[in-house]
Amino acid sequence: MLVQWIFGIVGSLVFAALLFAAGISFREDESRAGRLFMVFAFLFSTPYFLFALKPEIISTLIIVFLLIFPLLGIIVLLLPYDPASKKIALSTTPTLRYDERDIMFSRRRLKPGSERFEAYYRNHPQKKKIDDAWRRKPGLLNPKARFYHPLYFSAAEASFDTVEYFHPHVQTNPSAEKKVIEPTVATAFIKDWLTRSGAHSVGFTLLRDYHLYSHRGRQEPYGAEIYREHEFAIAFTVEMNKTMVDFAPKSPTILESADQYLRAGMLAVKLTQFIGRLGYEARAHIDGNYQVVCPLVARDAGLGELGRMGLLMTPELGPRVRIGVVTTDLPLATDRYQPDRSVIDFCRKCKKCAESCPAKAIPYEDRQYDAVGLRWKINHEACFSYWCTVGTDCARCIKVCPYSHPDNIMHGLVRTLIKRNVVARYLALKMDDVLYGRFNRGKNF
Ligand code: SF4
Ligand code: SF4
Repeated sequence: MLVQWIFGIVGSLVFAALLFAAGISFREDESRAGRLFMVFAFLFSTPYFLFALKPEIISTLIIVFLLIFPLLGIIVLLLPYDPASKKIALSTTPTLRYDERDIMFSRRRLKPGSERFEAYYRNHPQKKKIDDAWRRKPGLLNPKARFYHPLYFSAAEASFDTVEYFHPHVQTNPSAEKKVIEPTVATAFIKDWLTRSGAHSVGFTLLRDYHLYSHRGRQEPYGAEIYREHEFAIAFTVEMNKTMVDFAPKSPTILESADQYLRAGMLAVKLTQFIGRLGYEARAHIDGNYQVVCPLVARDAGLGELGRMGLLMTPELGPRVRIGVVTTDLPLATDRYQPDRSVIDFCRKCKKCAESCPAKAIPYEDRQYDAVGLRWKINHEACFSYWCTVGTDCARCIKVCPYSHPDNIMHGLVRTLIKRNVVARYLALKMDDVLYGRFNRGKNF
């Protein structure tokens, strides 16, 4: 009987697909998801096998519920259906440049009692009380911090210190002879070379004024105005190891951050030196020595969209990346910013990072307009203050984000569906909560 065979085949497919998902989850060290997929595999395939063995009890109602409804459901999920997203406003071009002196890492470098310290808080009295509060805490990578670990903290310090060795080499001394290279050829070569060197994604954009900080905050001369010296920017991402991020906010996370800042720094300096040998100006923007706001450059280079937590959301790894940037006058073929309303819509519905943030630094509300544009504005002071308590750079928001899952066939399929279908977005969000937990705690360490 044909219907008996159909039930048998569908049951086998359901069982195999869910067992495959369980296997992937166990490999990802997601045991809760793995166990649930195993339960689903037996639960959802059993009725099909039952009716395949006992065809005499199959009725029209059973066929509708077990074959027609699921088939319709799959068709609905596969269709490009996203009416609401079209109305979502895209991020706007910033009208104001960030002053690097205001970011937390610059404020952290101010020495109490120094002339620079006094001058900064004279000009920003509202920040003094806030900054005094985190200055009383142990601080990043401090042995008195909550998540201190002698090995991980020392290793992270070693990686951050090694990035600093690159600082004298962020700028090139271009060769006298300028080699003439087709922009498309240079672009393809750089993309291929960086990818083979470990970059996850690479993009190219025209360098805009709003990509640059207005004034220096971490490098001398402090407070000097920053001008646009190059026409192009190359942005790339490097992947943060999922297993290490899963421990967030404990000490392995800051080691992983430090290691990826080092990798991004090494790639950026290597690229800068290469461009110099071609006879062109270039500057690497690496940890502790930036003149650009990396997520804005990376977004405009087509590497992703800005999400609720204020980070770049890449299509394959979400926010689980670090960014490197090189600015240059080497002529390049540029990519385009690829606005992704599906990410903005997903972030509007999800709010998982906001709920999980121990510092309550991520907003629950929708994006707001300010001088920097339409965006979710993070409370960087609250975030940094928490870092000073725990001694790590936390990254809990990155850990819980549904876009942070590994780039494999299972999560790739989900990403493809949620990009084009609003029903899939709702379903993916609910399933993420069920499989990985809504208040996903960092793994024990
Ligand atoms: S956790 Fe959710 S709301 Fe936060 S950035 Fe990721 S998708 Fe957006
Ligand atoms: S790093 Fe931690 S404290 Fe900062 S925004 Fe993310 S979750 Fe919140």
